[in-house]
Amino acid sequence: MPKKRTFANSDTDSSYTTLLEPQISIIAPLYNETESFPYLISRLNAVMEKSPLRIEVVLIDDGSRDNTALLMQQVALTDARYHCVFLSRNYGHQIALTAGIAAARGSEALFIIDGDLQDPPELLTEFYAKYQEGYDVVYAIRKKRKENVLKRTAYAGFYRFMKAISYVDMPLDSGDFSLISRRVADVLNQMPEESRFIRGMRSWIGFKQIGVEYERDARLAGEPKYSFKMLQRLAYNGIFNFSEYPVKIITRLGMLTIGVAMIYLIQTLIKRFVYHDVPQGFTALLFVMVLFSGVQLIALGLIGEYVLRIFFQAKGRPLYVLRDVIKDQQRQPVMPLKQASLS
Ligand code: UDP
Ligand code: MG
Repeated sequence: MPKKRTFANSDTDSSYTTLLEPQISIIAPLYNETESFPYLISRLNAVMEKSPLRIEVVLIDDGSRDNTALLMQQVALTDARYHCVFLSRNYGHQIALTAGIAAARGSEALFIIDGDLQDPPELLTEFYAKYQEGYDVVYAIRKKRKENVLKRTAYAGFYRFMKAISYVDMPLDSGDFSLISRRVADVLNQMPEESRFIRGMRSWIGFKQIGVEYERDARLAGEPKYSFKMLQRLAYNGIFNFSEYPVKIITRLGMLTIGVAMIYLIQTLIKRFVYHDVPQGFTALLFVMVLFSGVQLIALGLIGEYVLRIFFQAKGRPLYVLRDVIKDQQRQPVMPLKQASLS
């Protein structure tokens, strides 16, 4: 039996009490977003007021060190459409999203955006229309990035590399900005992987998926919260979790090495027995030794990367810990860990 909830934008009047659950959850993770917060709220409010859909907004505080959590608390305690989840520390964007997807109650679809308004929330209508046509995943494809050349090239290169090596069909130039159906969200909630690459997991789930082109806006206010190290970790998660390539390449390198060695051996034998020449080339020997010590270390490192992943997954820790939840304008009791782990 669904709980009584109020929705300011339900069909009849603004304080109408309904028994219905929200149809759509808009999910936005926030980490130190004080500067852009007021803009985010006013844009989201405008979207909700225009839309005939019942919408809840799920905001996730990813352990912000500024006033973000306080601002979120204020909005959630005064506006029933806002559902706020506070994590115990900074876990990173992908985990914050995971927490948001787990908390969302939208019965039809979840609309995932960035909290810095780089992904325009107004596109909900267009994305939802695609959902109604029968698509389970509607993902955004960036036409143009308004970031510096270096970052743009790195992104473009990474997505193309990922597409070439991945065993799931990942669309080019698409990030987490998407609308996913309830059943896709349910599957995501059941995927226990620790190193999360949500756009890859989303592709893995399948069903009918479609891309919609959009122009990615520049960040509205504040600094990007993704550091180079964090982006690198995200890229690693994509490569190691969605490709067998790193392991396969070790085997291929090994075979190539043996091939080269055989040719060298044959050449040496011919020199020795046909031309009665003494084999030369201590420099070459040294070079080969150093080269392949390097190759072997890389191979070990690649294997280590998988061992590490197995190690972290084997611990079976919850993906995040909740500090606080405010929904339906009330602070909710947070059960220690039980709620935090994926069930
Ligand atoms: N974010 C987060 N936790 C983090 C880093 C970022 O929740 O540790 C949020 C951030 O507040 C923003 C979104 O993730 O809403 C995207 O981050 P950012 O804008 O820094 O990434 P970029 O747009 O540069 O890829
Ligand atoms: Mg951003």
